[in-house]
Amino acid sequence: MKIAVCPGSFDPVTLGHLDIIKRAAKLFDEVIVLVMSNSEKKPLFTSDERADLIKKCVKDKNVRVDIYNGLLVDYAKAHGAVAIVKGLRAVSDFDYEFQLALINQSLYPRIETLFLSAKGENMFLSSSMVKEVCSLGGDISAFVPAEIADDIYLRCNKGDGSND
Ligand code: ADP
Repeated sequence: MKIAVCPGSFDPVTLGHLDIIKRAAKLFDEVIVLVMSNSEKKPLFTSDERADLIKKCVKDKNVRVDIYNGLLVDYAKAHGAVAIVKGLRAVSDFDYEFQLALINQSLYPRIETLFLSAKGENMFLSSSMVKEVCSLGGDISAFVPAEIADDIYLRCNKGDGSND
């Protein structure tokens, strides 16, 4: 069984992330969407909340969601994953993602990093952009799944941000 991991902060999950997750689910027997923390970003949602938001909109049978804050390759090794699947938006993503792929390869040579190109309409879509638009009262319905739009509106506009 071929297992892939789709890691990210998903704060919150967007249509861009979902496109990558669904495409990965067609290529692998099982996909683990891995919610990780990013020390450089102050999250709007806790890890548990971010995982719940993903579960609300991903119903594919071969996709599951997990939370992990350690070294990605250790998780991949422990769960028998053969690939890390990442989405690439623009050239600006490439430098950082390529560095990560090389580091992960040197830490665990049996893991492959696979890059899927973002769909054209998701090229400029990011979680930070969604949060910015939403907190300024803009319409985010074209950027996030309908199932979670209200959760994002509530959190962005009530100011009850988490401290995860
Ligand atoms: P962000 O960069 O928006 O904070 P994450 O850290 O949660 O996103 O990203 C997780 C993965 O999803 C990364 O591989 C990232 O490149 C990819 N990704 C993020 N936004 C998009 C998008 N709009 N289209 C395709 N892939 C994306």
